[in-house]
Amino acid sequence: MLEQQALEYHAAGQRGKIAIQVTKPVASQADLSLAYSPGVAAPCMEINRDPAKAYEYTAKGNLVGVITNGTAVLGLGDIGALAGKPVMEGKAVLFKKFAGIDSFDIEIDETDPEKLVEIIAALHPTFGGINLEDIKAPECFYVERKLRERLSIPVFHDDQHGTAIVVGTGFLNALHLTGRDISLTKVVCSGAGAAAIACLDMLVDLGVKRENVYVCDSRGVLTTERELTEEKRAWAQSTDAKTLSDVIGMADVFLGLSGPGLLKQEDVKKMAAKPIVFALANPEPELRPELIREVAPDAIIATGRSDYPNQINNALCFPYLFRAALDTGASTINQDMKRACVVALAEMARSDDQFGRQYIVPTLLDKRLLTGVTPRIAEAAQASGVARRELDARAYRAQLEA
Ligand code: NAP
Ligand code: MG
Repeated sequence: MLEQQALEYHAAGQRGKIAIQVTKPVASQADLSLAYSPGVAAPCMEINRDPAKAYEYTAKGNLVGVITNGTAVLGLGDIGALAGKPVMEGKAVLFKKFAGIDSFDIEIDETDPEKLVEIIAALHPTFGGINLEDIKAPECFYVERKLRERLSIPVFHDDQHGTAIVVGTGFLNALHLTGRDISLTKVVCSGAGAAAIACLDMLVDLGVKRENVYVCDSRGVLTTERELTEEKRAWAQSTDAKTLSDVIGMADVFLGLSGPGLLKQEDVKKMAAKPIVFALANPEPELRPELIREVAPDAIIATGRSDYPNQINNALCFPYLFRAALDTGASTINQDMKRACVVALAEMARSDDQFGRQYIVPTLLDKRLLTGVTPRIAEAAQASGVARRELDARAYRAQLEA
């Protein structure tokens, strides 16, 4: 039913979900001689003298590359670059709808991480920022790190950091509602992939103690005894515990970024009172909310799904992060900007009448997001020294409201 609807939606009318528009007059011969040869040589030479002028004379400053190699598309896995295109076009739609940002979706048929870095680096002059999307772990960690080192435009792997920001938001508000002290909060995470590692980094940045975090991958608890990748090694504990059930006792928070059905009702029963359960595997969570509630009626539950309350949806943050980064000419999206986004989103949810166990993150269509969140990220960009353009705070808010 939904599948059929989706196919019809995609095939209807003009092909694809997004198209390109001309933004300058092109009616007359004179217009055309400005838009293209010979007039166009003038902005070319200006940019040749001063590359920063590209932001003035071209679309660069409002253009994001949505770039994938199709190796980890949604929950569908390695379906290849071309098959990932509907997702990337969808991302472009969200950028445009929520933040007025244009993007090109670029599907690259290359799985070698070194080559992928070279290709994306070579493409970067086109863009004001790069949103890496649906590239599988562990390669995604390397690709993002290398590109961030090399390029002076923002590079942001949304599956990692977008997830981490919205998880951080829900996490802060769930602690707030249950009166927990973050430095004493015990977290058990199922999954140690792209999303999980970034979320854990964010939780520690927000104040969780590393020694209070236990992580499981497909082989069980990450321990110092095991041979692990660099990213996983950072979360290894010295323990005899082997399985999720071994470590979940008295956990305050379960963070699931793994796969369907991996959390049992028995595990939830072992958690602390008023447990916080983020069962984010998509589309089928680690445990369904109604089954969690059967054994823990006072739980705070979030999923990745739109048909339950508390949907952890990356679209709550990435449009506004890029909007702020582009508008401030930020050279990167740094931790201060991400944290500012977490805090702004968390405060926005708290200021809502509906705030409570079933409403710990704002909803996607909340009209306040663009004007509420973006200036806070822009301020963080300015304060942390990565902005290359000064913005008057009041004028910027007014501009976003317009
Ligand atoms: P990923 O990089 O492939 O990571 C998956 C992780 O799950 C891996 O670490 C894997 O272990 C682990 N895993 C697999 N079977 C397991 C088991 N039986 N017990 C414990 N861990 C197991 O994927 P990802 O991008 O991080 O995404 C993970 C899940 O989260 C997906 O379902 C995705 O849809 C969902 N997600 C949801 C949101 C959201 O709600 N907004 C955002 C991002 C991701 P190994 O490392 O041993 O292979
Ligand atoms: Mg994705």
